[in-house]
Amino acid sequence: MADKRDYYEILGVSRDASADEIKKAYRKLAVKFHPDKNPGDHTAEEKFKELGEAYEALSDADKRAAYDRYGHAAFSNGGGRPGGGFHDPMDMFSQVFGGAFGGGFEEFFGGGGARRKSSGKQRGSDLRYDLEISLEEAARGVEKELEIERYMPCDTCDSKGTKGSGGVKTCQSCGGRGVVSRQSGIFIQQTTCPECRGAGETISDPCKACKGEGRVQKESRIKLRIPAGVDTGTRLRSTSNGDAGVRGGPAGDLYVFLHVRDHDIFERDDSDLFCEVPLPFSTAALGGELKVPTLDGQSSIKIPAGTQGGTVFRLRDKGMPTLSGGRRGDLNVRVQVEVPTKLNSDQQEKLRAFSESIGVHNSPMQEGFFKKAKRFFDL
Ligand SMILES: [Zn+2]
Ligand SMILES: [Zn+2]
Repeated sequence: MADKRDYYEILGVSRDASADEIKKAYRKLAVKFHPDKNPGDHTAEEKFKELGEAYEALSDADKRAAYDRYGHAAFSNGGGRPGGGFHDPMDMFSQVFGGAFGGGFEEFFGGGGARRKSSGKQRGSDLRYDLEISLEEAARGVEKELEIERYMPCDTCDSKGTKGSGGVKTCQSCGGRGVVSRQSGIFIQQTTCPECRGAGETISDPCKACKGEGRVQKESRIKLRIPAGVDTGTRLRSTSNGDAGVRGGPAGDLYVFLHVRDHDIFERDDSDLFCEVPLPFSTAALGGELKVPTLDGQSSIKIPAGTQGGTVFRLRDKGMPTLSGGRRGDLNVRVQVEVPTKLNSDQQEKLRAFSESIGVHNSPMQEGFFKKAKRFFDL
């Protein structure tokens, strides 16, 4: 793990900071470095990730105690990696700010009141979709059609929420702001107004199909292009394919989280692939060709005479492509020398004769081993 910054330093708090201080520091910095506020800014994105991890570690009493004792080593079992210790920083953010995935932080960025002034429009929620693909698909890239139940614009009222021209009133309960405030500890928490569901206004003759929301929930199909080189933990953003907005508001985005299925033959480490291939013991001794599987089909490697079990042969550029389009990884083939199990009497006879003829002096590994282990045997 490269030099990781101290979690307390990342959040700018002292080591004895209270849970509230930590939360407050996180909220302030996470809003500042949120990717939606800093589009295309990689430094901000990194900072945002770092913050999520630091906050996750320090907001949990057990994790914080472990960190205080052992530092980053406390999470060395894959902290921040897919399947490892840390959540997606976006999830962390949503959790802290409340609301559904991605939907809750609109209030902090959009300037709630102004955005909902009179149109009643409201941005739809971001959605998450978990998609499993095969290693072959991850290697070549693939187009997938996702079936998602989500809010779509209402055709009956053309997303207006009402068919008539009148009947729209400012919401009594939030005064048109679309949000209601509530004191919670030292924070003022803003939540979507339950009366108008954030629209800021109510309708006296709402569209029957959508109950005035201007959108209806239905099954929809979305085509998604998955680029070659993705891995488990890769997150793709499909712009405007989240929930449709309220009464014609902009749609949210769809975030697709990828999971690459384990493969029967290949194991993956970033862009490198690994596999084990059985090698007949006669080929190991005499040398020859060995057929090996690759993602591009069959290939073969030259086995030199006297190859030992466990030898790894590297096939350059036969691994996975990288998302950035750089050099492909390698395929590492480890040979497993296979001993035959069903010998007929003739074969056994020949092998015995062979064994006698070869003796111990033509077995370099055995010789070296016996030299070292002499004192354990009565030689
Ligand atoms: Zn409608
Ligand atoms: Zn309201």
